[in-house]
Amino acid sequence: MALAFDEYGRPFIILKEQDQKTRLRGIDAQKANISAGKAVARILRTSLGPKGMDKILQSPDGDVTITNDGATILEQMDVDNQIAKLMVELSRSQDYEIGDGTTGVVVMAGALLEQAERLLERGIHPIRIAEGYEMASRIAVEHLEHISQNVNRCKRHLAEISVKAVLSVADLERKDVNLDMIKVEGKVGGKLEDTELIYGITVDKDMSHPQMPKQIEDAKIAILTCPFEPPKPKTKHKVDIDTVEKFQTLRLQEQKYFDDMVQKCKDVGATLVICQWGFDDEANHLLMHRNLPAVRWVGGVELELIAIATGNKMMIEETKRSIHDALCVARNLIRNNSIVYGGGSAEISCSIAVEAAADKYPGVEQYAIRAFADALDSVPMALAENSGLQPIETLSAVKSQQIKDNNPHYGIDCNDVGTNDMREQDVFETLIGKQQQILLATQVVKMILKIDDVISPSDY
Ligand code: ADP
Repeated sequence: MALAFDEYGRPFIILKEQDQKTRLRGIDAQKANISAGKAVARILRTSLGPKGMDKILQSPDGDVTITNDGATILEQMDVDNQIAKLMVELSRSQDYEIGDGTTGVVVMAGALLEQAERLLERGIHPIRIAEGYEMASRIAVEHLEHISQNVNRCKRHLAEISVKAVLSVADLERKDVNLDMIKVEGKVGGKLEDTELIYGITVDKDMSHPQMPKQIEDAKIAILTCPFEPPKPKTKHKVDIDTVEKFQTLRLQEQKYFDDMVQKCKDVGATLVICQWGFDDEANHLLMHRNLPAVRWVGGVELELIAIATGNKMMIEETKRSIHDALCVARNLIRNNSIVYGGGSAEISCSIAVEAAADKYPGVEQYAIRAFADALDSVPMALAENSGLQPIETLSAVKSQQIKDNNPHYGIDCNDVGTNDMREQDVFETLIGKQQQILLATQVVKMILKIDDVISPSDY
């Protein structure tokens, strides 16, 4: 079975002739499709925002991924419903075009589908809903432009840093740039102007012991992803220690074990040890004593970068993901330096604008336009819900505040900072990213609404 498009761009489903079929037509087809799309959106809804939940995904061969990145969750969900696949594609398109906002776009599409379901039940034809949504999306996208701001002051600085970073990893012979080699790290507290380019890798950690040297030139680094300590007797083992001698023997054995580990590092010429895990104070003391400086609890991402920089071949997908996202945001700001404020503030402002515009449309479309405004509210509502706030109360309070002060920057105070003003909180998103979310979500929902015939094998 496959999804295809006719010469007018209308979607239809191709089925092998000999397959047994069940067939859904008209409103039943639309309703079935809408619930498939909504089911996917429901899964992602709880992952939206700074307080969003992580999901654990286990592949058939047992690999486990923990993430709250919308595109990654959907990528690994292995859905086999055609409409659910469209939602996966939706998130992927947002990722491809913008590199950010992959959860939000699906939440928005889910809300549009939910509203469409209600309109269908009231007897409004799907094509009229699709047209109303199209008009509303244009109003919202235009409104976003209107409330956006430029981040001019840092444009040049950021542009220069980006060019230098790309040039420093560019392979001029092959005329290629591996963006995985550039890491963009954010630090809370500073100003945008503080952004700087560091040739190398930053690991924000101290040496494991304050007396270890802080500067090591031409270091030879041992990267340890295994625990750097003697194996500890845990619940699985039974050790009988009934005399002081036995205790001391065990202690000496442990010490010798660790001493051997240290020696092995020294034998291969390491002058610095970077560990993914910790080690206890005794081990730390021994390292100090044996003159082997170490850094412990270094995150997987940094460890990977060090491994790449020092010629090791390992690669972790999450590293690539975070670099990709960060670079995309930087790139988007270079492409277009306009931003809108986040925390659902832009959606609330668009919702107010779309709602106001609905009255001007005399046709049935005005119902769809109003429904679109309601769907926009679902993003701030999800953010509030995920942060443990009352969604409806919080939304209505923020919305009336926006209208009263005529200020589009009020959003959901997810982190309980004490202000709703996202401008004060420095929570912003790129204008093109937000516009793309609205456009893509609308397109996919229009497409789903236009499918009125679903033929599937009966055992499907
Ligand atoms: P996506 O994959 O769609 O980017 P995220 O889980 O990153 O999803 O959530 C993004 C949403 O969370 C946006 O609406 C953004 O404005 C909002 N957001 C991010 N940080 C904050 C914050 N500190 N306070 C309020 N909202 C925030």
